[in-house]
Amino acid sequence: MSAPSAEDAALLHVDLIVLGGGSGGLAAAFRAAEYGQRVALVEPGALGGTCVNVGCVPKKAMWLAADIGARIGQAAQLGFDLPRDGRVAFDWPKFITDRQRYIHGIHDSYRKRLDRDGIVVLPTRGRLSGPGRVLCDDGTCLAAPHIVLATGSTPQRPAIPGAALGAVSDDFFAWCEAPPRVAMIGGGYIAVELAGVLQALGSQVDVYVRDQRLLRQGDAEIVEQLQENYRQQGVALEFGYALKALYRDGDGRLRLEAEDGSMRDGYDQVLFATGRRPNTGDIGLDTVGITPDANGDIPVDAWQATPAPGVYAVGDICGCGPALTPVAIAAARRLCDRLFGGKPDAKLDAGNVPSVVFSHPPLAMVGLTEAEARAQHGDDVHIYCSNFRPMREALAESTQRSLFKLVCIGDERRVVGLHLLGDAADEILQGFAVALKRGITLDDLHDTIAIHPTSAEEVVLMR
Ligand code: NDP
Repeated sequence: MSAPSAEDAALLHVDLIVLGGGSGGLAAAFRAAEYGQRVALVEPGALGGTCVNVGCVPKKAMWLAADIGARIGQAAQLGFDLPRDGRVAFDWPKFITDRQRYIHGIHDSYRKRLDRDGIVVLPTRGRLSGPGRVLCDDGTCLAAPHIVLATGSTPQRPAIPGAALGAVSDDFFAWCEAPPRVAMIGGGYIAVELAGVLQALGSQVDVYVRDQRLLRQGDAEIVEQLQENYRQQGVALEFGYALKALYRDGDGRLRLEAEDGSMRDGYDQVLFATGRRPNTGDIGLDTVGITPDANGDIPVDAWQATPAPGVYAVGDICGCGPALTPVAIAAARRLCDRLFGGKPDAKLDAGNVPSVVFSHPPLAMVGLTEAEARAQHGDDVHIYCSNFRPMREALAESTQRSLFKLVCIGDERRVVGLHLLGDAADEILQGFAVALKRGITLDDLHDTIAIHPTSAEEVVLMR
């Protein structure tokens, strides 16, 4: 065996280098370590990435606060000794302290597990520096036959004058109070979720959407009901709105100018929820011959392999599958099962991915919308709906409604889509997503005895 070169001697050799310690990167590191691989994880920021620090986890905490607030309002209606309008003070900074304590607990559990599994964590930025090589800002050089890229994505602002005056979701999580008036720009997941939270916690929220509806991914009928519920909660929705520029007025408030020249002023905050960009601009892709597409996404095949041998990508940086934490985790685990676990066929199945928009009430969806089913299956599509007022809403004389919808195809009425807008939809969907993936039919649902009285029973009773 020849002696290592001077350059090689300075290299830290491992079996796998992971760039990015978010959901996808951590999942890859842990799974590879389970298979006995030596792993180096390079992450300059907080462990857990967007999901744990400025995404799913703090968002769900804020959603829970908003949900509790709404329930206090209903309790006031239902005889509890509270102010009749249900308005009780919310100590936002206190809640944030609790939220961050919870998040620090997640960081601690990651650190313990990384230590236990012998994973080398480099708290610095790393970039590809050639085949099988990563160079870190702290001078460390890493070498490995396998590299997983999992550098995630960042909220993007539109390219308009004054865009820097607006906030993005990362900023929202640092706020310590509900701004009195908020303009939300965008109609996707983040806009819908943060609009609902802010409105419930005391802001007046106006949502400006360039499309004619919220949530282009959602079923149109379900989204229509969500829009109606939001309007009743006081959220103002304006569709077909094209934002041209943002200004700060003399009173410190923000003003929107639309393409048609009209002005909307008096906003304390403008929040851009206008999509996210993959973090692929500064990770040395050119050194291994990878060219991202126009959106910045890294091209990968069904096995998460990039065009560069030994380099793989998972999560928000590759355009395959929806940009969701569990999708990134599933892709990373299957990749490592294939590379190190003797499972040559393991790969992500990005079909029928269930997801939940944490709106008020939550919207849970899996499979095809009615429009998608009709585009694929023509007239052989059969729709079953249940529009109802859940018991708590009815008791409190609220007009908020739930809408559940089944999309079936063929004579056997195979279920290809399930869309649930309503209380607890986030918890109800998971089990039905398993059933849908197994190819169940409407008869299978009808054969199942309902659990009464619940909202979930509507799914097995729809005719
Ligand atoms: P989305 O892609 O869901 O929505 C972006 C919205 O912004 C769309 O309404 C889009 O309009 C609009 N938009 C884009 N550019 C502009 C612009 N220049 N001017 C005005 N409007 C614009 O992105 P989000 O930022 O809401 O979320 C990013 C991703 O994060 C989601 O797609 C989802 O994958 C993930 N996520 C998941 C959550 C969950 O699972 N609960 C929660 C939050 C995020 P148009 O439709 O016309 O393009």
